Amino acid sequence: QRRRRQQRPQLEMEGDAALPQHQRVPGAGRHHGCVLARPAELRRRHALTCLLPPKRDYHSLCVKQPIGKELFQQFCWTQPDLQNYMTLLKDLDSYDMLPDEERMELGVSIVNRFLTRKSRTCVPFLLKFEETCKRDVNFDPYVFHACKQELHRFLSQEPFNKYLVSMFFDRFLQWKKLERKQITKKFFRQYRLLGKGGFGEVWACQVRATGMMYACKKLDKGHVKRRRGENLALNEKQLLEEVDSRFVVNLAYSYETKRTLCMVLTMMSGGDLKFHIYNMGQRGLDRTRVCFYAAEVCCGLTHLHEKLIAYRDLKPENILLDDKGHIRISDLGLAVKLSEGRLVRGHVGTLGYMAPEVISGQKYGLCVDWWGLGCLIYEMTAGKPPFKGRKENVVRQELEMRITKEQETYDEKFDEEVKDICTALLNKNPKQRLGCSGLIEAPFKPDPRHVYCSDVQDIDEFSTVRGVVQTEKDDQFYKEFHTGSVPLSWQNEMIETGCFKELNVFGPGGTRTPDLVW
Ligand code: ADP
Ligand code: MG
Ligand code: MG
Repeated sequence: QRRRRQQRPQLEMEGDAALPQHQRVPGAGRHHGCVLARPAELRRRHALTCLLPPKRDYHSLCVKQPIGKELFQQFCWTQPDLQNYMTLLKDLDSYDMLPDEERMELGVSIVNRFLTRKSRTCVPFLLKFEETCKRDVNFDPYVFHACKQELHRFLSQEPFNKYLVSMFFDRFLQWKKLERKQITKKFFRQYRLLGKGGFGEVWACQVRATGMMYACKKLDKGHVKRRRGENLALNEKQLLEEVDSRFVVNLAYSYETKRTLCMVLTMMSGGDLKFHIYNMGQRGLDRTRVCFYAAEVCCGLTHLHEKLIAYRDLKPENILLDDKGHIRISDLGLAVKLSEGRLVRGHVGTLGYMAPEVISGQKYGLCVDWWGLGCLIYEMTAGKPPFKGRKENVVRQELEMRITKEQETYDEKFDEEVKDICTALLNKNPKQRLGCSGLIEAPFKPDPRHVYCSDVQDIDEFSTVRGVVQTEKDDQFYKEFHTGSVPLSWQNEMIETGCFKELNVFGPGGTRTPDLVW
């Protein structure tokens, strides 16, 4: 496949933003190293600011959005008093991405430079974490979580406000304006056909201005309308927009042409898992690959589930490889967003991969995807799906009967561990399926009528010591010891025993009642 990277045309910038920095805004006063806006500028800035989505908080503007983050940090690097914080932020960011050993090394260095009172680069408002960080840095990978939050809290105050009146934020608004530019098919160069789907074709395409390659999924308007697929199409587009995981295909643009609706997606040029399982010589994949793909699918599923999205269509065809060999879940056409705590019903999925509770018309939730993962691991290993032979033709009723009633079989391709995880995921009862239950029942429950310890007679009495004199220092120690209730445990006790509910009453119409007394 061709991957021409054309010389990039200059991106158009509005007004003097495109000029080199030394030619910009002549005569504008300098303040905190940033250019103050003039009235005409103010109007322009106001117009630009209106382009921003309603959420204009620090987190969205300076942490989540990549260009926003970059520009905010560029601004901070121009401020001598903020540079130290930027070094720390940079280190904290790379800390999260390092493999275990290097991470520990960087962790210790972060503690020494920023969280040690004697250090020249110590960050005073983080010193309250000094002790815990020093204690936990060698084993807790989340040791700096609170520090990072605190650092962001600091940056979100004065530094953020200064950023908002700097030329860096002005530049951010210009980028937002470019981002909002109307997209048409002229924006892309089109290459080869990648695949066919239910409503149309998927083509490789390239953004003319940047050279970035994508896959363009085109839905034919005619087909969509004839088969009443509007809700499906919109559902897929909106869910794709919401997800942000390196293990799920991302949506980069959506636009329309006269005859199609287009979704421009992460380019996955390594083919799908179905092809890799069946068309690469021997059937099935080796264990290392099965393990790796299962783990990455697991990460993708977890991300979807955190957003309460049930994917519902897990199968080898829908798992795509990129050119580095990593996978992403694709085709969110059947995915559904659950409302908090709710289950759905619906005979949805692909024949042969649907979970028993889907087939039998029960209400279900995210559990169906763990069944799907079971099918996927099984098929990657065996080179056939769990409930039918590779080329076997089975009618729907028969296949559904097997899924709901029959036990799948495991041949010599499965070692104990793979068999174990498949069996646990392919549990027909969603309540017992791996991944689905929160708290599990213990395998042994003590009988409340039985006493599980040696006879009282068999336990030696504790000997008392004579002649020890207690001093004031001892009293001090006792005082430190007898602190009474431990807040979390005590409050849990109040709730668990029902005391809270019973005593926590107010007068009619939410009026005061006498204070609680013990
Ligand atoms: P449908 O929802 O109609 O099944 P899909 O999203 O599964 O459509 O896409 C159809 C086919 O197009 C896939 O089987 C795959 O071969 C190809 N395809 C889809 N998305 C991509 C992508 N992001 N990168 C590369 N190929 C893709
Ligand atoms: Mg598909
Ligand atoms: Mg689909």
